[in-house]
Amino acid sequence: MTILSIDPATEAELARYEVDGPAEVDAALAAAATAQRAWRRTPLAERTALLREIARVLRAGRKRYARLITAEMGKPIAEAAAEVDKCALTCEHYAEHAAELLADRPVRTDDGEALVVCEPLGVVLAVMPWNCPFWQFFRFAAPALAAGNGAILKHANNVPQCALAIGEVLRDAGAPAGLCRALLVEVPVVAELIADDRIAAVTLTGSTEVGAIVAGQAGNALKKQVLELGGSDPFLVLADADVPAAAAAAVRARFTNVGQSCVNAKRFLVAEPIAEEFAAAFTAAAEALPVGDPTDPATRIGPMARANLRDALHDQVLRTIAAGARLRTGGEPVPGPGFHYPPTVLDHVEPGMAAFDEETFGPVAAITRVAGAEQAVELANRTEFGLGAAVWTRDVALARRIAAEIDAGAVFVNGVVASDPRLPFGGVKKSGYGRELGAEGIREFVNVKTLWIR
Ligand code: NAP
Repeated sequence: MTILSIDPATEAELARYEVDGPAEVDAALAAAATAQRAWRRTPLAERTALLREIARVLRAGRKRYARLITAEMGKPIAEAAAEVDKCALTCEHYAEHAAELLADRPVRTDDGEALVVCEPLGVVLAVMPWNCPFWQFFRFAAPALAAGNGAILKHANNVPQCALAIGEVLRDAGAPAGLCRALLVEVPVVAELIADDRIAAVTLTGSTEVGAIVAGQAGNALKKQVLELGGSDPFLVLADADVPAAAAAAVRARFTNVGQSCVNAKRFLVAEPIAEEFAAAFTAAAEALPVGDPTDPATRIGPMARANLRDALHDQVLRTIAAGARLRTGGEPVPGPGFHYPPTVLDHVEPGMAAFDEETFGPVAAITRVAGAEQAVELANRTEFGLGAAVWTRDVALARRIAAEIDAGAVFVNGVVASDPRLPFGGVKKSGYGRELGAEGIREFVNVKTLWIR
């Protein structure tokens, strides 16, 4: 079997790789298990030193890694460079804070000395998506490695060069041989990896559909899992909001990463009195985004990552229009080579339409007009997802009340939902479970051990 690396901007083949066969997979698992047993006994200061080294290697190779990300999945180059920076920052964050986050916690009991101790689980299988090919891996790996775990990476098969480059980063940073290994394998191998005794736990970032499959397999094997799945984040704009600021933020919230992020805002729930002003400003700003060659630092909208993703998105747009929504801009694939799709704004979208009910993973925004805050909250929650949400209003007390009503892993008031290594990140409902980043993230793949001594 062969894995192809295709440039989504040109459709040119960049590289092809033979998949790793059963012997290679077995050797990788054996090496990871051996390396992890030594790594868990390695002093924390040495483990965090590796994270600092990873950060240094990432920063030194920033341009090359950014070019690789852009070449394989089409992200505009400026965003790809920012992705590499964020990986480095996250490694440094955990290098600095791992000791405090993993520290033994004394607990007073009736008798004896009691401690809560964090020990690593073992080798974690990381099944990762292509949309942030470096970030998705390092946001899991930085805390997991600090905690003493090893990792086997099964990356999305449209980013094999990124997968191999991640392996190089770890090697160049001096990670113990075998501790962290990227395997190039097809999907059926994932089930075998999950079932293997040398894998202790699983983390998946990907679609809800695949999340259910992987969760079932990990559940059968009784292995801990963290699932970071899809989202259809609402962006509420109430009648008293600063409309120009909200519209400008909404463009960033929806079109960053060509709309291919789980926490992109996807549904814009806008109070009727300001809806036309918001929709006009938002549409004008979306139309002004420079579209085209993702290697040009000025480009804000490059190609989508794969032809089938663009086709699926266009189908959602057509179905939404057929159901009665109004197309304000975009809505037609860009002709020529590459999987380009223009910034698209759909107005008067209602529940029951594809762009409201389904996750739109690309540069398509759905505006829904609401009577007021109460209906905005009701529609915000009328989704199977629960990842993030944004609320725009000048009434912060009201925003706090609304935040408590929204079923999501994060609510940002007068801001754009984004991950931050200092804050936990994850979802509820069909957006998954478990948390990455923050203090919660480093404790996902640990054995929280009670130690009682007299
Ligand atoms: P995907 O199709 O679910 O793929 C994700 C990973 O799972 C890839 O490595 C893929 O490998 C693998 N995979 C596919 N089918 C599998 C199966 N049956 N068993 C085991 N593994 C399987 O998702 P995607 O299209 O790459 O990514 C987009 C989705 O990810 C969106 O829904 C998005 O919202 C979500 N996402 C979530 C977060 C978050 O943090 N919550 C972040 C980013 C993206 P192949 O490439 O070989 O198919």
